[in-house]
Amino acid sequence: MKRLTILGSTGSIGRSTLALVAAAPPGAYGIEALVAGRDVAGLAAQAREFGARLAVVADPTGLDALREALAGSGIEAAAGPEAVIEAAGRPVDWTMAAIVGAAGLRATLAALERGGTVAIANKESLVCAGEIVLAVAARTGATLLPCDSEHNAVFQALDTKDPALIEKIVLTASGGPFRTADLATMRAATPEMAVKHPVWSMGAKISVDSATMMNKGLEVIEAARLFPIPSERIEVLVHPQSTVHGMVQYADGSILAQLGTPDMRTPIAHCLAWPNRMPVALPRLDLAALGRLEFAAPDPERFPALRLAREALNAGGGAPTILNAANEIAVALFLDRRLGFLDIAAVVEEAMQQLGAPTVAGLDEVLALDSAARALANRLAARRAAAA
Ligand code: NDP
Repeated sequence: MKRLTILGSTGSIGRSTLALVAAAPPGAYGIEALVAGRDVAGLAAQAREFGARLAVVADPTGLDALREALAGSGIEAAAGPEAVIEAAGRPVDWTMAAIVGAAGLRATLAALERGGTVAIANKESLVCAGEIVLAVAARTGATLLPCDSEHNAVFQALDTKDPALIEKIVLTASGGPFRTADLATMRAATPEMAVKHPVWSMGAKISVDSATMMNKGLEVIEAARLFPIPSERIEVLVHPQSTVHGMVQYADGSILAQLGTPDMRTPIAHCLAWPNRMPVALPRLDLAALGRLEFAAPDPERFPALRLAREALNAGGGAPTILNAANEIAVALFLDRRLGFLDIAAVVEEAMQQLGAPTVAGLDEVLALDSAARALANRLAARRAAAA
């Protein structure tokens, strides 16, 4: 039996992971710990259904309600950020790191500290502290499996580790709900419009990131961390059908691509079964029914976030931490209707200009910079909202 811990179990990725566990033969997997942010009822229901040993809610005020919801089940209940870290560090065979945002960083690191296999969906960890995450994995010998669909596709298509033989990596982007929208429409976009993704069903934050294309920017940084290739050889193509998830072009002119339906259960299953594969009962890709696959270059005017992410990656130091933190704040304010859609990238750009690319040595400095960037982004957003 493979023992699993799922960080962010009540979210979109967490639920898809548990759906695969539920569909597997009895006894194939056992759940050690499930971790959520605030959703006590959802967490308790999952813990009971899957017979978890431990359920943890990050919000410390949720402890009594969690204990009550788990009464009589024998499942251990805990709450608070330190309990999340403790849960992530418990010995298991496989961890899904799917807490949203930089909030997932310390838990991801705790899982990697323990060694074992960690499937990483929490791309913000790799963006805001990529070097630290990779250094911990290298030190402990933990296996980091890319779970983001594009990176999982590239991981599947990589058949060499020699960067000289890789000409480029291509990450595809659906283009999100505003792929063909004009700037006036985007300026007036509401949260409802932004989270209505045409292809993927995801959590609110990543849906807004897809609408601004910051998601693809974060993914370029993520790819630069995960794959041995200079960042200028990481390309983004808009591909509305979201069928080809990622490609690797080799020095002999061959391009290897991974295709599939836009359903995260496929890359999650790849990580769950790695280095093997497992059967997954999902609708199969019907290329004849699909008819055609389209590709286009992203529009830098309407989607400046992609440029900002590349600038942060090239600047190095703490610049990606600042980009990520400012974006998280701006997206949260947008979802709360306190910031306009186009202001998201504008706030990120201003925060990057003001804070530059300071040197960051170690986790404490990354976390301090993350806090400073969040505070600045809040001030910049308030100023914009007041001026609007
Ligand atoms: P959701 O918003 O759907 O879920 C987020 C999960 O994180 C929930 O379980 C939430 O708990 C939990 N959480 C939030 N804050 C904390 C915290 N401080 N401590 C512990 N747990 C917390 O997000 P997604 O599942 O969509 O995305 C998760 C990650 O995976 C993100 O980094 C995203 O970029 C990445 N990803 C997602 C994809 C997708 O298709 N959804 C595709 C590729 C990558 P609660 O429910 O209680 O709030």
